Amino acid sequence: MVVVIKKTKLKNIDKDVAQALQQIKYQPKKKKVMIKPNLVYGTGAKSGIITHPKLVEALIKFLQKFDCEITIAEGSGVGHNTKQVFKKTGYENLANKYGVKLLDLNTCERNEHKWKYGKIKLPKILDDHEYINVPTLKTHTITTVTLGTKNQKGLLDWPTKKSFHTIGVDKSVRALADVVQPDLTVINALYCLEGNSISLLKTGKKMNMIIAGQDMFETDNIGIQVMQTDSSQIKHFPIIKDIKIIGEKLEKVQTKFAEPQKIRKILNIEFQMNGCSGCSVNMERTMKKIAKHPLLLLKFFYLALFKNITFVSGHSLKRELRKGTKVIYVGICTQKISNNKYIQGCPPEPDLIIEAIRKA
Ligand code: SF4
Repeated sequence: MVVVIKKTKLKNIDKDVAQALQQIKYQPKKKKVMIKPNLVYGTGAKSGIITHPKLVEALIKFLQKFDCEITIAEGSGVGHNTKQVFKKTGYENLANKYGVKLLDLNTCERNEHKWKYGKIKLPKILDDHEYINVPTLKTHTITTVTLGTKNQKGLLDWPTKKSFHTIGVDKSVRALADVVQPDLTVINALYCLEGNSISLLKTGKKMNMIIAGQDMFETDNIGIQVMQTDSSQIKHFPIIKDIKIIGEKLEKVQTKFAEPQKIRKILNIEFQMNGCSGCSVNMERTMKKIAKHPLLLLKFFYLALFKNITFVSGHSLKRELRKGTKVIYVGICTQKISNNKYIQGCPPEPDLIIEAIRKA
């Protein structure tokens, strides 16, 4: 197959998306289409965390030329309400503007399918809809990158999402792709994310680009080549060489993305975020809240300079705790390893995490 790399700008995106899809000879085969963006939680279009709504708008305009009936479907990350996320990210307005449906994949009807680890429930809508996967070009602390293959985790309900962390995210995401694959993958590389998600700053990396193809693995492979990711780190999709690329020359758009550190450190504060994105995202929201309050920021840097603190999420530790460290356990998954002394919630709200920081 073939993958197209297309440079674009928000003002030209409708024309450029249509042109890119024509270049790879894509046309919807079904009248009903499900578009699956990446909306983990409610944040801004320029954050690099979510799929930019302008890209989905361009896809809607393209599909409406084929008289398609369109549904935008997503299941937000654990602890986040999909309806609120659609609202905060601008997708509710988008759906109203074009008369398309919104579907919450966390609560939708499901069918059981056989997969490597027994049985898995997938959204019923996949039975009769064309499926377009619209991930974002970004790095990830567990799977190194999160592109089309990892974006499929959003098809699952919360209990299944959580179970992926018990099986192992790489293995389970790879096995999921044996059961379901999209008809088209369009990677949003307008604003991207590099490094770690836990940051005091906005990390949206402006690339003004899309990458599209009808084979998700090939499209993801071009994604990692653009980010210059070490392919030996990728375990959740196969590495494919010699993919035919059209549009921009790969060498012209390649840029080294900062790698995510599996264990993040800010001076003496260590983050062992080994749970699902629910806790990682709320830790990131906590950091952003801290950054806006001078007194809290002062307290945080005092701890970072003079104390030895480790935040832990998930069922287990990624590595042994440092000597003399004070551990702040985040979320119900840490109940056992913390002997019941953890910040409550699934995931805990940022205010509760801040409370624990104040007391540290
Ligand atoms: S406590 Fe955190 S890591 Fe555990 S399931 Fe809830 S959100 Fe995920």
